[in-house]
Order: sequence, then C-alpha cells, then structure tokens
Amino acid sequence: MMIELTNIEDTRKPVIGQILEELERKRKEAASSGNEEFANNCWRESEALKVNILYIEAFEKIKSKKYRDAWNDLERCEIDAASIERNSDSDYYTKSRCHFIEKQVSKWQSLYPYCVFASPGFKVGYYTCSICNHKVRPRSRCSHVKGKIYNGELCVHVAHDMEFLELSIVTKPVQKYSVMHDDETLDFSLINYLSDFLDNAFENWEAHWTRKSFPIERFSQVTPDSDCPCKSGKKFEECCINEKEISIPHVDFQFFKEISDDKAKVRFPY
Ligand SMILES: [Zn+2]
Ligand SMILES: [Zn+2]
Repeated sequence: MMIELTNIEDTRKPVIGQILEELERKRKEAASSGNEEFANNCWRESEALKVNILYIEAFEKIKSKKYRDAWNDLERCEIDAASIERNSDSDYYTKSRCHFIEKQVSKWQSLYPYCVFASPGFKVGYYTCSICNHKVRPRSRCSHVKGKIYNGELCVHVAHDMEFLELSIVTKPVQKYSVMHDDETLDFSLINYLSDFLDNAFENWEAHWTRKSFPIERFSQVTPDSDCPCKSGKKFEECCINEKEISIPHVDFQFFKEISDDKAKVRFPY
C-alpha cells in the first residue's frame, strides 16, 4: 500500500486517520499471533505515512512563518526517518519518500539562523530494554538491538533514576529543539525567500553556498558597531570597514521548474 500525499489538505482527509487506525489494529493483531514480519510491516507503513504527514505539516508551518514549530517538526522527521531507514531496505526507504524527506530536512535545517543550543546533561542510574524489560548492563545485555523493531515495536533503552547534572551551551546539539534564540531577533529571510517559490513540500530544490564580493559602497547603511556583513562574527569597524570590497556568504537556489524572471531576481540584503 502506498499513499501519495502532497499538501496539507491531503493529510487531513478522514481516510488517512482510518488507514493509521487500521494499521495499528493489524500491527497489534499480528504481534499477538506471533506474525512478526507482518507486525513489522505494519509498523513501517504507519511510521512512513506519519513522517510524510509531519513533513508536509513542517512545510506548511514554514510557509506560514512559524519557523520554530517547523524546526521542531523537521527534527522529528529526521529522527523518525532514521528509524525507518534502520528497519527497511533502501528500496522501501526511497519508495516511501523517507529518503527524499531526510535529504530535504537537512537542507532546510542548513538555512536556519540557529547556532546556539542548550544541551542538558544527565546521570542515568540504569537502562532497561523496552521490549523485554531486561536491565541493560555492560556485561549483561539482552538480544534486542536499540533502534530495531521487534514484533512491530521499536526497541528503545528506557532511562531510570535520572539525575540532572548540568546545562551546557553547544553549537552542535544532540537534540535540536533546545534552541537558545529568540526568533524575533533572527533573520529568516532566506527560508522565507525559498518557500515563496515552492508550491508543495515535495518539490525538489538545492542550495549552493558560495561567497560573492560587493563594492564597499553597497554597505553604506551598515553602522561601524554592527556585525560585519562578511559574517566573521566581528564588528564591522574591526573587520572589513576599510576594504574596497566585501565578500559575503551567498546562496544560489536551484529549482527544477520554470521560475519567472522577476521573481528570481537576486535580493541584496543591504
Ligand atoms: Zn530486550
Ligand atoms: Zn568582515
């Protein structure tokens, strides 16, 4: 069974809810009668459908400028698609569009201005296997592998006796939802610009990062104490203020459809 969803209206059709319920019913039934392969198939179908829905929802949120909510959905897509990849062959992963979603999610994430995250540190007393409840210790493991599905259920290690240790500020977080920025202060124009061109979540696009040099006169509005346009992180007055040209990060978007000329005009940020 393969359901092709394109836009948010598709995801809200009652039939989608019915399909998910049906898959869940069949998964439980197969699991209790010991039909592991069928139970795993139901899990896979259901998860892939949910990732498709979530990705479409994330795209909708980007379109309506709810960037933080979209960011959280994109991370969820990333995690869930990885789960599906671990538990299916590459043919299924492609066919269910999860591979496409995985690639798009990482491209969207690369356009976000977020760079500082909170990372909580915990001390964990012990873990148990979610499939058999075995207490996982270095020399005593059960036969289940974390991240694999067994009888239609994903194996996770459940943490017990957790103790909060610290909160670190990091740039490459394990979990991406703990963004430390206030969105009001950030520039989402790149994402906004791109999403204007796209009609649905499944249109392909590429972003090519380069640098482009512009004469210093173009930056006449930049005050000496603001951030340097070259994105070095230094103040303008301590960086490129006396240069003839400034080289700024530049992204070329590539679309796989016709774009009208006036729409495709390069926008210069200064
Ligand atoms: Zn186990
Ligand atoms: Zn500079």
